[in-house]
Amino acid sequence: MKKWNLIIDVAECTNCNLCTLATQDEYVGNQWPGIAAEMPKHGHRWIDIKRKERGQPPLVDVAYLPVMCQHCDDAPCIKAAENGAVTKRDDGIVIIDPEKSVGQKQIMEACPYGVVFWNEELNIPQAWPFDAHLLDAGWDEPRAATACPTGAFRALKVEDSEMRRIRAEEGLQELQPEAATKPRVFYKNLHRFTKCVVAGSVAGEISGVEECLHGATVTLLKDDDVVARCETDAFGDFRIDRLDPASGGYTVKVAHDGFHGHTMEFELDDSITLGTIRLSPG
Ligand code: SF4
Repeated sequence: MKKWNLIIDVAECTNCNLCTLATQDEYVGNQWPGIAAEMPKHGHRWIDIKRKERGQPPLVDVAYLPVMCQHCDDAPCIKAAENGAVTKRDDGIVIIDPEKSVGQKQIMEACPYGVVFWNEELNIPQAWPFDAHLLDAGWDEPRAATACPTGAFRALKVEDSEMRRIRAEEGLQELQPEAATKPRVFYKNLHRFTKCVVAGSVAGEISGVEECLHGATVTLLKDDDVVARCETDAFGDFRIDRLDPASGGYTVKVAHDGFHGHTMEFELDDSITLGTIRLSPG
């Protein structure tokens, strides 16, 4: 049976918040029986955008991560609910029943992603219901996907076997895999949020003037094993991505024709900008 999935490309999100606003427009002042009660005007962000800054100026990388109910197949919120207040539909969508969930704060507390909001006025937990009422009415994607101007959202209704194939082919990842909830929301380029980057610039003196060195070879080693190698760009800059946070000591070796090589060591706790590495003429 075909089920809904959502793919979000972190590299394409620009933090414009149109997905968040479209969702607020859909639910503030509107109730969709069996799907969702009204969203409060303030305080709820059923689609929230998290921000991550990596490195230090001038080589800073900023990424944005839209986060919403992950429509888990093994959902802790369903297990925590009483009276069948949270259910999974045959099409994969998780619905918190706005009537049955009254007073059930444990539903919000059970979610490992922190995407369930408490509606004080109605005394109910609420989360993004994948715009199920629109899909039931024939829409082929939720409003967040229609509102996104960069194509960062892609909703797919496919067999799970097809989704596994797409996931492997496109290198999609789950948010917080340690939660083991089998989410139906998948992320592309999640390393922009979860991994570290090492960046720097290489310069050297040419005819008495300090110049950016284009094409310098930068080799990153850990325990004498090469982890990554790249060349500096026209501005003398380099970036090595997808490194594990708090992964210990590294050595970076820089080489360029006509210059002495340079070696430096550093500890990688979080993303780091190594500054300008100056090579002396050889
Ligand atoms: Fe439930 Fe949270 Fe998973 Fe949504 S993300 S299905 S609210 S556990």
